[in-house]
Amino acid sequence: MNPVLEIKNLSIDLHADRKKFNVINNVNLTINKKQKYGIVGESGSGKSLTSLSIMNLLPAPLNIREGKILFEESKDLTKLPNKEMLKVRGNDISMIFQEPMTALDPLYPIEHQIMEVLRFHGTYSRKQMKELAIEMLEKVGISRPKQLMAEYPHQLSGGMRQRIMIAIALICNPKLLIADEPTTALDVTIQAQILDLMSDLTENYDTSILMITHDLGVIAETCERVAVMYSGEIVEETTVENLFSNPTHPYTIGLLESVKSLGDRTRDLYSIPGTVPTPKQLTGGCRFASRCPYATAICREQAPPLFSVGTDHQSRCWLYGKEEVING
Ligand code: SF4
Ligand code: MG
Repeated sequence: MNPVLEIKNLSIDLHADRKKFNVINNVNLTINKKQKYGIVGESGSGKSLTSLSIMNLLPAPLNIREGKILFEESKDLTKLPNKEMLKVRGNDISMIFQEPMTALDPLYPIEHQIMEVLRFHGTYSRKQMKELAIEMLEKVGISRPKQLMAEYPHQLSGGMRQRIMIAIALICNPKLLIADEPTTALDVTIQAQILDLMSDLTENYDTSILMITHDLGVIAETCERVAVMYSGEIVEETTVENLFSNPTHPYTIGLLESVKSLGDRTRDLYSIPGTVPTPKQLTGGCRFASRCPYATAICREQAPPLFSVGTDHQSRCWLYGKEEVING
């Protein structure tokens, strides 16, 4: 297996009131070439911060305390000078967000925005850029690409805008596409179309995906492997198949319960009681303890490491404490 991206022991702190608060704790994950990898968690779980740190886009009060982010086994993105990182962004790794309206510039027609990426990363003539742009718009399912090139973002629907974002993200044939809640703002039928489109295109381009979502349904549809994040930590990591057939962490089990109750009208809607603790509220011990129905004394005193709970399956919970420790 050739990894395209490896996150090693990544910890990020928030600097506020002259103190440091931990927001990402010792995250490890590996995305292989052509793999579709998902990170799932509620808001405040640190999933978006993890993706921003890959792109070197962490806002100022946040600082990487420790760790490496290796691109293609050699380039440590946390140490890359800004100039080098500009070449990586949009070319080797690109990103699409929840709300394409904020990523597209309202002042320019689509033609300008899609060609800008090619202008920045390539040495094409204007004619070549135009041809490539039209070809890419066709690939994302836009039927009259020439006409659309002259339009402005506000003239288009949310689904169309997200198709254009996908075109812009894939036009330089990146090795990795990071998609942060790419379909959350769209209605359900459009959501499914966009997820299919992303899956098909990345397969054709041999692009790996890092899918960031709060929605286990999106993970089931698009991913092969998954990390469940809670309060800045990976609490369970395995194949998507294992996660759904044999969830082990009490938080994952709670998330799956809430999805099941959504689909079953005879049951009350279930959601895990309580909220994700803020970085300032962390007290040591298991970060899920205040919401966990299985919590015991050790849970409140000592933070659990990741335990191996089966083939290719890890869980951060003292319930599995007798198994072998994978890492802290
Ligand atoms: Fe619950 Fe304890 Fe496991 Fe944390 S370590 S998830 S509190 S049982
Ligand atoms: Mg987010």
